Amino acid sequence: MNILIKNALTILSEENHYITKRTDIAIKDDIIFAIGEIPSDFTPDETIDGEKYLASAGLINCHTHSYMSLYRNYADDLSFSDWLFGKIDPLENKTTPDDAYYGALLSCIEMIRTGTTTFTDMHMFKNMTAKAADEAGMRAVISRGLVGEDENFGGAKRLDEAFEEMENYKDNRRISFMLAPHAIYTCNTEYLKKIIGIAIGENIPLNIHLSETRYEVSESLKNYGKTPTEYLDSIGFFEQKTLAAHCVHLTDNDIEILAKNKVSVSANPISNLKLGNGFAPIPKLMEKGVNICIGTDSAASNNSLNLFRDMNYTALIHKGVNEEAQCVSAEEVYRFATKNGAEALSLYNTGELRVGKKADIILLDLNSPSLNPYNNPVSALSYSVNGSEVDTVIIDGKIVMRKKQLLTIDEEKVYYNVNKIIRRLSK
Ligand SMILES: [Zn+2]
Repeated sequence: MNILIKNALTILSEENHYITKRTDIAIKDDIIFAIGEIPSDFTPDETIDGEKYLASAGLINCHTHSYMSLYRNYADDLSFSDWLFGKIDPLENKTTPDDAYYGALLSCIEMIRTGTTTFTDMHMFKNMTAKAADEAGMRAVISRGLVGEDENFGGAKRLDEAFEEMENYKDNRRISFMLAPHAIYTCNTEYLKKIIGIAIGENIPLNIHLSETRYEVSESLKNYGKTPTEYLDSIGFFEQKTLAAHCVHLTDNDIEILAKNKVSVSANPISNLKLGNGFAPIPKLMEKGVNICIGTDSAASNNSLNLFRDMNYTALIHKGVNEEAQCVSAEEVYRFATKNGAEALSLYNTGELRVGKKADIILLDLNSPSLNPYNNPVSALSYSVNGSEVDTVIIDGKIVMRKKQLLTIDEEKVYYNVNKIIRRLSK
């Protein structure tokens, strides 16, 4: 299908910065076919009047657990261990694959409605996130959370499931995969080494939680005499392309290791703040050239999957804490949430509005107070929008939301089911 967006105010990449201008965008099937001069023989099946829209590349959420939206606003204001082991784990143990599917659909609704076109997911239920993302029309990089190796944790079974899932979706161009050993405190060294070997052998990128809490770091120092980053480096983890989530508690040496190994770091500021863990040292990571992207983490600890909120926190926290208003600019935050996210997920053909890239485009309603006047749309996306301005969403060249109407998901059915599910789980 061919789509023509006429005369939208459009955020375009130019060298290392962004420019905004009124222009036309032609989409041919899943690809941005032309921007500006549209070839005269291009025949659109649908034309969108872009006059009242701001066009941007879709946002990329680099860390979440989408099924966990079932647990939104369920366990708040608790320490990390009371939250996880006291409240969330007991619910997870009762959650069925069908429950997880509805939780993931709920997440897809929220992400599409707030301008996210791609997300990275670490999950527990084979095929369920992939099924939800595929039906929603989203782009997703999915990984089965791998935990332990012994019988209790079913490590071998989970690894098998990860490969079954990859096989089941191998022909789906919107769904790709990583291997995700959950964390160093849930996987032993032998198991981690096994996963590294497989990841390198099969050339599958790795995804892991890293240095989220002070406790994780102190336990690592006690057990291995190394920080979590040093420990992973020592067992060869970073020999494969890695996306590390959180990275809150890092030493200068850890940052050197991450930079040297081209590890991408997904900062999850709201989740980290809410669980009282701190936040990633983004200015220091930037200084060393680490590829930084942004994730929401799950709605059980955020409590939202609206990436604009996390962009806003990312742009603000470091200025306040460092007492330096130039620290982490609006443009840098926008890049974290788009181009850098694409780099972290090896989706090099997304994250920017450029000819030849995938048509993952969001259109925000310019008739919104947060976007007026049109002084600097990139600043607006980092500082003033709240997500409700997102009007139309195109993913892989298909319109999945038109004028705020979701075309791919029966929202009412999802809301009905998630409420029924949580009543049962929390009994
Ligand atoms: Zn996580």
